[in-house]
Amino acid sequence: MTMSKARIVIIGCGFGGLAAAQALRSAHADIILIDRTNHHLFQPLLYQVATAALSPADSATATRAILRRQSNVTVLMGEVTGIDTMNRRIEIVGADDVPYDLLVVATGAAYSYFGHGDWAQFSHVLKTLEDAVGIRGALLGAFERAESQTDAETVGRLLTFVVVGGGPTGVELAGNIAELARSTLARDFRNINPASARVILCESGNAVLGEFPSRLSRYASSALASLGVEVRLNTTVTTIDAQGLTAGDQRIETRNIFWAAGTTARPAAQWMNLQPAQHGAISVDPRCAVIGLTDVFAVGDVASQAGASGQPLPGLAAVAKQQGAYVGKLLSARLKGKDNFPPFRYRDLGTLAVIGRARAVAHLGGVSLSGAAAWLLWSLVHLMLLVDFRSRIAVYLNWMWSWFTYGRGARLMTTAPHGSINSAERDDDKAH
Ligand SMILES: Cc1cc2nc3c(=O)[nH]c(=O)nc-3n(C[C@H](O)[C@H](O)[C@H](O)COP(=O)(O)OP(=O)(O)OC[C@H]3O[C@@H](n4cnc5c(N)ncnc54)[C@H](O)[C@@H]3O)c2cc1C
Repeated sequence: MTMSKARIVIIGCGFGGLAAAQALRSAHADIILIDRTNHHLFQPLLYQVATAALSPADSATATRAILRRQSNVTVLMGEVTGIDTMNRRIEIVGADDVPYDLLVVATGAAYSYFGHGDWAQFSHVLKTLEDAVGIRGALLGAFERAESQTDAETVGRLLTFVVVGGGPTGVELAGNIAELARSTLARDFRNINPASARVILCESGNAVLGEFPSRLSRYASSALASLGVEVRLNTTVTTIDAQGLTAGDQRIETRNIFWAAGTTARPAAQWMNLQPAQHGAISVDPRCAVIGLTDVFAVGDVASQAGASGQPLPGLAAVAKQQGAYVGKLLSARLKGKDNFPPFRYRDLGTLAVIGRARAVAHLGGVSLSGAAAWLLWSLVHLMLLVDFRSRIAVYLNWMWSWFTYGRGARLMTTAPHGSINSAERDDDKAH
């Protein structure tokens, strides 16, 4: 007699969802992996796409290509909008509901504006490939527009870049915008001096990279300063509008605002009518099962799980990957009738953050590293973590080229400096 196959649905193909699917490779199950995009994105290198060091294809890989050989997985591209836990069905925009026996929610996190949702229209965030390409267009476009201006004040406003939030993403972005202006673009313009661009990093706390030991935070501050970034600590942004922002008691006129200040889990807790934990996340038990729902699991940034210290585990790729792999193994064991799976334990492999060329910090097992050694470690770790061999080679070659030439290979703009142009419209304009 053959047993009918269980149907396992995984929502989200980020670090957590992909690890869960791959850990289920030998499971006697039909696995449906749903994502709103057609790719697995390596978010830690997104800032390099945003600052023209890498092209989008270097930091993302088509999901179907990754899972081509895993015949028990079906990939569906679709936007999930609801989970009906009573009838065990997933709601997807413009498609039939997808039923499940077991569900893994791995939809990650989004940026939060601390109740000021209207600020989103005046600022950029860095979370998806579209965001990164949008930031690249805004950065390069600012220099292109400035080149054709004669008024010094207008040029100054166009070449002012403000990053809000001094965590790893804000620090990476600020350091790399400064390098783009002072090294890569420095000799390419005739009317403006790109190196005169102002890059300002606003952090409401009293240190950048506040989660690192204070020695490394101080190193990050001085490394940013040496790149020409104005680091403003204890500076809260209180307004953002179409012309600029207010940071502390100062008004800064600019349209180049990059928000890297707060995150919130994607709204999966609401989909299931659950009381959200901190930052809107789904509370899970030590086996990553959603509290009160034994057939639903949540992993990664969308989940809130207490670590060994009792504090929620951090929003890191390593946490998502380990939880995803754990749930995949737990479900494989459960399908074989083994119910006594040990609880999840996070293995903290340390944290790294990069500031710029040969400038990084690393905190691993109580050991703190900074400067070129940490940067080398950061580069090696990130190369190894890329999901496919093609990306590793492409990223490695790009980095080598950038190292020797100070250049950035992905500087093409696909939108006009004043906004997007539909090529049919533009050609039509010329005809009249
Ligand atoms: C710019 C940046 C830099 C980072 N750098 C680092 C770093 O250096 N080191 C580190 O450890 N961590 C880093 N992180 C954090 C790390 O990327 C996250 O912790 C990790 O991606 C979480 O994995 P996840 O699987 O939970 O979610 P994600 O990787 O975000 O994946 C979520 C997936 O769900 C999909 N999805 C979301 N909503 C829906 C929906 N409604 N329907 C269908 N699909 C949906 C998304 O398309 C996405 O593919 C960085 C994050 C960012 C944004």
